[in-house]
Amino acid sequence: MRRLLRSLLLLLVLPLVACSLRGNESESVGTGVTVAVLDVGQALAVGIVTADGRALLYDAGNSREDAETVILPFFRSYGIEQLDYLVLSHPDQDHVGGMPAVIAGIAVASFVDPVLPTTNRTYLETLRLVRERGIRAMRAERGRILQLGEQVSVRILWPERPFLVDTAGEASDNDNSVVLLVEHGGVHFLLPGDLEERGEEALLEQEGADGLHAQILVVGHHGSRTSSSEPFLRAVRPAVAIISAGRDNPYGHPHPEVLQRLRAVGADVYRTDREGTVLVHSDGRRWTVEIERELER
Ligand SMILES: [Zn+2]
Repeated sequence: MRRLLRSLLLLLVLPLVACSLRGNESESVGTGVTVAVLDVGQALAVGIVTADGRALLYDAGNSREDAETVILPFFRSYGIEQLDYLVLSHPDQDHVGGMPAVIAGIAVASFVDPVLPTTNRTYLETLRLVRERGIRAMRAERGRILQLGEQVSVRILWPERPFLVDTAGEASDNDNSVVLLVEHGGVHFLLPGDLEERGEEALLEQEGADGLHAQILVVGHHGSRTSSSEPFLRAVRPAVAIISAGRDNPYGHPHPEVLQRLRAVGADVYRTDREGTVLVHSDGRRWTVEIERELER
């Protein structure tokens, strides 16, 4: 029944979408912005493309293959030749893995990074490429705004310094993830990376409940039980929640409790492990959701 409803909904809304869909390479994005949670398995990559040809990539999946088979083709399908911003939420492999191949495959104007202490080799390689290619490197700091064309503002809500530390006194990768609030008119998207409960609590304290509201939430930490706490979700109040997780992943993401919490705040849940890439198109007032695969949910 749910599936039928979604099919009907898609049939109703798709004709309204003045956007190019996959495979229609010559058309522009139309009047708005497309935010795509790309199907990169148990990892994260979110592509953003605006009507005036601006582009941002938030995380780059696990591997070179993710970059070459999913991420770069997505931007090419929209005729994008340069990323205005390449944002790394935090230097874990499932977020930084495809970055060197992205930098090799498309021009990048600015690289934005929380500059967390790490020994991840792919991250170090990414930094080397950023330097070699003369890409502008920016430290992600709360309060900064990345302007993406005329209509889209991307606010950096997190991290804040000093970094949140774990029980061993070390800066926690996940809880210092770069959190972005993408604003297109009245339509807001929240991208919290792998922020977990402590980070959510600290962000909520800084931002207040009103500052976190977003109609579309890219669910934190692949739907792990340690993220998407109730107070956080009540502040965000998402209508659409999108989870990036790998099919049959060993972590059991997304956790059933998280699915339950999302539904309890009224969110319609989409999952890349079942539906493939999930795209949201916004005209600044309304949004529509397009999914790659229509599978049993
Ligand atoms: Zn992750």
